[in-house]
Amino acid sequence: VGIIGCETKASNDQPIYKNTNVAIQDRVADLMSQMTLEEKVAQMAQYVGLEHMKKAEEDLSPDDLHNNDALGFYPGLHSSDIAKMTEEGKIGSFLHVISAEEANHLQKLAQKSRLQIPLLIGIDAIHGNGLNYGATIYPTPIGLASTWEEQLSNRIGVETAKEMRATGSHWAFTPNIDIARDARWGRVGETFGEDPYLVGNMGVEMIKGFQGENFTGNEKVIACAKHLIGGGEPMNGTNASPLDISMRTIREVHLPPYRRAVQEANVFSIMTAHNEVNGIPCHNSKLLMTDIVREEYGFQGFYVSDWMDIERIHTLHHQAETMDDAFRTSVNNGMDMHMHGPKFTESIVEAVKKGIVPEERVNDACAKILEVKFRLGLFENPFVDEKKAEEIVFNQEHQATALEVARKSIVLLKNDGILPLAGGKYKKVFLTGPNANNETILGDWHWYQPEDRVVTVKEGLEAVSKQKGFKLDYYNSGEIIGQTSDKSIREAAVRASKSDLAIVVVGENSLRYDWKNKTCGENTDRAHIDLPGRQLELIKAIKKTGTPVVAVLVNGRPIGEEWLEDNMNGILEAWEPGSFGGQAITEILFGDVNPTAKLPITVPRTAGQIKLYYNHKPSHYFHKYKFTDKNPLYSFGFGLSYTEFKTSNVAIDKSTIKGDEPFTVSCDVQNIGKRDGDEIVQVYIRDNYSSVTRPIKELKAYKKVSLAAGEKKSISFELNTQDLAFFDQEMQWIVEKGDFTIMVGSSSRDKDLTKVKLEVSETKKLDLN
Ligand code: BGC
Repeated sequence: VGIIGCETKASNDQPIYKNTNVAIQDRVADLMSQMTLEEKVAQMAQYVGLEHMKKAEEDLSPDDLHNNDALGFYPGLHSSDIAKMTEEGKIGSFLHVISAEEANHLQKLAQKSRLQIPLLIGIDAIHGNGLNYGATIYPTPIGLASTWEEQLSNRIGVETAKEMRATGSHWAFTPNIDIARDARWGRVGETFGEDPYLVGNMGVEMIKGFQGENFTGNEKVIACAKHLIGGGEPMNGTNASPLDISMRTIREVHLPPYRRAVQEANVFSIMTAHNEVNGIPCHNSKLLMTDIVREEYGFQGFYVSDWMDIERIHTLHHQAETMDDAFRTSVNNGMDMHMHGPKFTESIVEAVKKGIVPEERVNDACAKILEVKFRLGLFENPFVDEKKAEEIVFNQEHQATALEVARKSIVLLKNDGILPLAGGKYKKVFLTGPNANNETILGDWHWYQPEDRVVTVKEGLEAVSKQKGFKLDYYNSGEIIGQTSDKSIREAAVRASKSDLAIVVVGENSLRYDWKNKTCGENTDRAHIDLPGRQLELIKAIKKTGTPVVAVLVNGRPIGEEWLEDNMNGILEAWEPGSFGGQAITEILFGDVNPTAKLPITVPRTAGQIKLYYNHKPSHYFHKYKFTDKNPLYSFGFGLSYTEFKTSNVAIDKSTIKGDEPFTVSCDVQNIGKRDGDEIVQVYIRDNYSSVTRPIKELKAYKKVSLAAGEKKSISFELNTQDLAFFDQEMQWIVEKGDFTIMVGSSSRDKDLTKVKLEVSETKKLDLN
């Protein structure tokens, strides 16, 4: 072993791999030289936490297990088996360990094993470490993306990593950098929306926040870019359905955030997607895992499978005749860790012995996983201080971030002038709707949370009612599905008629623990994108009373409900705004906070318009629909403020560039309204004529600008050739000679954009990998 540093030998009989003065690669090599094949493969095996297992054993009927695939455990596998395997060194990693106590318990078991290799513990900390009790829950990623402030994504990564480490987890299964191109898909809320550039920015910063410099130290964790690839554009809107898609779209739309996650943020793990792409299940795709992402992009970390998806290469896709074949081809094609379940280890050990899987594959995977454990300092101390965890989790700093992000994530979609609500004008405010007073504002990927750590809309309004001079009349009109009766709709209308204003909080339910009633979230897709259940009936009855109505949407996926746009006095898209959602919504309703958010995804009018995204090809809507407008209900990049902005003097520093020159786009932006506010100025490009058809516009830059009432600022954006590039017919990056249109303004809608021309004088091939 080539040792770097002063120590050349283990002192006091301490093995070299336990010596912190030795370089990490040498510690890894020393440890691996002592490991049996079985022990190395065990590092590639991950199991679900014991509490989670026990819960499934106790609470779930066989039907639930079957219907909720996320808990489709192997029959016959019990938590006691898993505990024993941990003591025997047969498990390298866990997922979903839901408390500091449990993490310590598992690490203690691992310390009984021959080599005392600590466990790597992963968790779906998608917007805060919400599967842990009491965690800070930030707005879901679609809300975070609506802020267009990637620094917030970074900060959430930093804070979530601290809460995770404090409670014993080391690996966040996030960010989800899927490009969401189908509003029917229940997982839209987990993504940063539909634009590859915005998604990439948010993803890169989140990874940097989680991982810091190489995830060393006890406040960092590794991140996981997921899901490679294309799950956000499912054939029929349902999770995991197949994707038949051109390589061009994969490379230009879906892959760029992965390239950036690898090259700009050194993301150390990637999870493959449930779905197949062009006939190959992603879990078995050498093209994606090895040829493109590892070799072309230079991925240094390791791949983890998604839940049960290696198994599904055999059971669902029928691409492998046996389960053994599935495990083995997946590993040979690049998979490094198997998420949950037995049989994998035995299968791979046997395959190595028979020469079906090369031992180097196992060595590579094992070395990466061990490297992570060393960098995280787990060999020095795998345990956490349970008391200290209480100080870190949901601390004031984290609460403040959750509130700040919530304030910046809520999009004002419609305002006929009713908002902000004038204090004192509405003496009696009626509040109803299924999402007015429950945990739906926390979104998917949280488990039960303490009531005192969630501010619902009802609580947010109650807290200010005295100060703002109104009496709140709250009525629980029922849940989204099932329980809204004719009687409750009538009652809501009666109460609304006796009020000066009605606030109706409607939308979707992504609650993981509410399988039967959830309408959104993982494995909960819909064929429609309207308001589910009887919510529209409820609002219509309230509207009929003549009382002004403001709708607040709490939802994970875009809601396409034209009637609301036509009939509401005001509409807020709150997404799922997290622990302080009710407070942030209240502050925006009353104007204590001026909304700044803009949509990171197009909102269609109806599911029939799907696929509808702003960066579409010129012929996408050449012909019209017979009865439906072809335009979206709300455009990508759209969002109102309580003030107004004007963009002017859009210019480029050069009118002609050669194929490889940077250029600067500038403009003035002025607050022409009466109150201070922030505008998000967006820059789009279009290649006017090209050898391969190009989207009608693509986002390339944006800036959030704070402006006092009346204030004007000049801003500029640096762009370069890469921003004008695409794949030519030979699938080479190219910038083509000719005219481009540069568009600057407040949303992707044509009427919000000012256009200027840029000429490119020479064609250039680019080497972008
Ligand atoms: C999801 C992943 C998640 C995993 C573990 C899967 O069903 O697709 O995103 O990380 O479960 O919970």
